[in-house]
Amino acid sequence: MTLLIYKNRIRDRRYHAYLSKLLICFCFICGIILAAQANNQPKIINKPIQFGKTRISLTRQYRCKHYKLCTKSIKIVPRMIVLHWTAEPTLQQAYQTLYPATLSGRSDIEKASTLNVSAHYLVARNGVIYKLMPDNWMARHVIGLNYLAIGIENVGGTGGHQNLTPAQVNANVYLIRMLKHKYPSIKYLIGHSEYRQFRNTPLWKETDPDYITSKIDPGPKFMHQVRKRVKCLDLLSRYQSNS
Ligand SMILES: [Zn+2]
Repeated sequence: MTLLIYKNRIRDRRYHAYLSKLLICFCFICGIILAAQANNQPKIINKPIQFGKTRISLTRQYRCKHYKLCTKSIKIVPRMIVLHWTAEPTLQQAYQTLYPATLSGRSDIEKASTLNVSAHYLVARNGVIYKLMPDNWMARHVIGLNYLAIGIENVGGTGGHQNLTPAQVNANVYLIRMLKHKYPSIKYLIGHSEYRQFRNTPLWKETDPDYITSKIDPGPKFMHQVRKRVKCLDLLSRYQSNS
């Protein structure tokens, strides 16, 4: 009898030791998975562009002249996300272009306003996200729709080459999910090349019928890759009357 109790105790101890090892292994694997996820999650770094009195005042003037929104506030209620490429090869160059309050070297659009172009986010080729300005202030990045659209610029596309990277796809997917969660009012996701489809819809507010450009960014390949991964958000690419 005593021998039996002794044997059982040994078996119990071995069993507990086995369970402890299993638990340690489980924790270790969980740790690795969490660390990997943390590494995959794109970083968002604040890197503000110049947005003082001059840019705010030019934004107000733009809203009043082009959208008949003559308010003191430059806040937007985001309903759309527009993806772009910078057509500039480096983060540094793209940031320098977007940084100043006033536009330079853009004869195609300077007649409409001297407000510089901007975007809310700028994504580097390695997928690091830079937040350039508050995402509920109006940026100038898409004619006719700036008053409701959040802009995401991606470094690349020089010479019209569809060369945005997988890291940029990941970063855009992450940002779109984050923004949709933050602003449930967002119903649309488009590439800049698709913006003209919104002309002659109630969303289009541009007052000057001649102020229009032709865009190819960020390319159908990138849009396809991003859309595939945010499918479950049901974001629209064309105007729908109930959205
Ligand atoms: Zn663009």
